[in-house]
Amino acid sequence: MPLTIVGGGLAGSEAAWQAASRGVPARLYEMRPAQPTAVHKTDRLAELVCSNSFRGDKLDNAVGLLKEEMRRLGSLVMRAAEASRVPAGAALAVDRERFAEIVTGELAVHPLVTIVREEVTAIPESSEQEPVIIATGPLTSQALSAGLVSLVGQDHLYFYDAISPIVLAESIDRDKVFRASRWGRSLTPTGVVQAFRPADGDPEVRPKPDAMYESEAPACGIDDGAGDYLNCPFTSEEYQRFYDALVHAESATVHDFDKERFFEGCLPIEVMAHRGPDTLRFGPMKPVGLVDPRTGRPPYAAVQLRQDNLAGDHYSLVGFQTQLKWSEQARVLRLIPGLEEAEFVRFGTVHRNTYVNGPDVLFETWQVRRRPTLFFAGQMSGVEGYVESAASGLLAGLNASALVHGEPVSVPPRTTAIGALSYYVSHADPRHYEPSNITFGIMDPLGRPPRGKLERKLAMSKRALDDLAAWMEAYGLGNGQPSAERESLRSSARSSAGGGGASPASKERLSASGEGNP
Ligand SMILES: Cc1cc2nc3c(=O)[nH]c(=O)nc-3n(C[C@H](O)[C@H](O)[C@H](O)COP(=O)(O)OP(=O)(O)OC[C@H]3O[C@@H](n4cnc5c(N)ncnc54)[C@H](O)[C@@H]3O)c2cc1C
Repeated sequence: MPLTIVGGGLAGSEAAWQAASRGVPARLYEMRPAQPTAVHKTDRLAELVCSNSFRGDKLDNAVGLLKEEMRRLGSLVMRAAEASRVPAGAALAVDRERFAEIVTGELAVHPLVTIVREEVTAIPESSEQEPVIIATGPLTSQALSAGLVSLVGQDHLYFYDAISPIVLAESIDRDKVFRASRWGRSLTPTGVVQAFRPADGDPEVRPKPDAMYESEAPACGIDDGAGDYLNCPFTSEEYQRFYDALVHAESATVHDFDKERFFEGCLPIEVMAHRGPDTLRFGPMKPVGLVDPRTGRPPYAAVQLRQDNLAGDHYSLVGFQTQLKWSEQARVLRLIPGLEEAEFVRFGTVHRNTYVNGPDVLFETWQVRRRPTLFFAGQMSGVEGYVESAASGLLAGLNASALVHGEPVSVPPRTTAIGALSYYVSHADPRHYEPSNITFGIMDPLGRPPRGKLERKLAMSKRALDDLAAWMEAYGLGNGQPSAERESLRSSARSSAGGGGASPASKERLSASGEGNP
């Protein structure tokens, strides 16, 4: 079999699709269900283990741009996400079951993909005709981890992430919470963001966007600034009570808050709380851009709840990853106004994250420097996030296919989000390497940037899409334009998102479609 891919997560699934779309047969190894991980719950490929959000979906946001680039490159992950979309304002959130089902189904029926349910315990042999992609994720099995250590010649770096709890919708007190999008932004079916209109028209209480809060959303699902959320408003007394309980609550693991190494974009709430009484109010509990309709004013602090499945009966606490003991989570989180009687569908947990030091180990084509017929992709290659993991799988899949066809390997320029991510992973300072989400900050700056922040971001996105189109043309990957078929799939998924994601008709189109195939 020309291409071997180890790991059927977001990166491995995307890599297999890209290869098969280019006529390269791929064997995809996935160890579940025989060998489970600490966080996956099913045997499906591309299972989302925590948040159901792929974050922002507009071009004024770097992850929105990355997604658009992936769509133009024929990404399976993006197409499955469109088809399983649930309401989340300007973000792209999905019904996780349906999403994984679509990815698994598409690969299972593809004639060039063979799925093998088996743990790979040693790095397979590779050659130009038979390259290998390792995409085993943050929870790479122990046996393979040992092989990786000897290959890359160094101990794995590691840190901890934590996942957010989910509550049952019917257990939320609707008299206390209110539904609103931050800044009153909500995505219309046409993709236009609506302006904020305060209910009582009082200009004094109208919140203004504050640059401090406008950073791009980190991977662990902290509010991306727009969405249809349920908001739990706090008075200062309620916040104080909650804060005191949180900093005194018992953790599930031994704690030394200074020594543990968490990814800054995914800190457990108790770790944030230990940094100071107001840290949460400037993070996941920020009240800005929200107006409590009962008072006509922003609350002192707020917890946002995001719909987690299409049925709308599960809500996750946005940005509330935690490693408190489960009994302590129940006690402390029930101090949140509106969650006094909450029933927990899932508690937060702590987990390991395995990744290599990208700049030491990888070329920007995602090939291993010491062995260019071997590729790393996904979280273990040193990126952070669902979208970034899938994006790296996409390029690894394209380049592994190029090797098989005897063609040159390549990546899009650094003016594109996907090219910038590749460059960051392979060129950041290896002494202080930290996995990164995509941001405009790691892309090539504009020569003559427009004045306004929004205009600058849009100009970067326009340049990125133009440059991607040119790169795709040069490498015979199509013209880089959004296809009419995808546009129709997107609008059909959007218009049915309130009640059920992709229509049967659009699902059919998805399976029958040749989009992504050359
Ligand atoms: C608990 C947790 C929560 C996270 N939360 C978020 C979040 O909310 N948002 C976000 O954007 N990102 C999150 N991430 C980070 C990251 O984006 C995801 O882990 C993402 O799934 C990474 O994609 P991947 O393809 O690299 O790995 P995965 O999706 O984990 O896929 C790797 C696959 O390889 C398989 N595998 C492992 N070892 C072997 C082996 N030896 N042989 C065969 N198969 C093997 C695994 O079973 C798995 O299916 C989280 C990570 C973790 C661990």
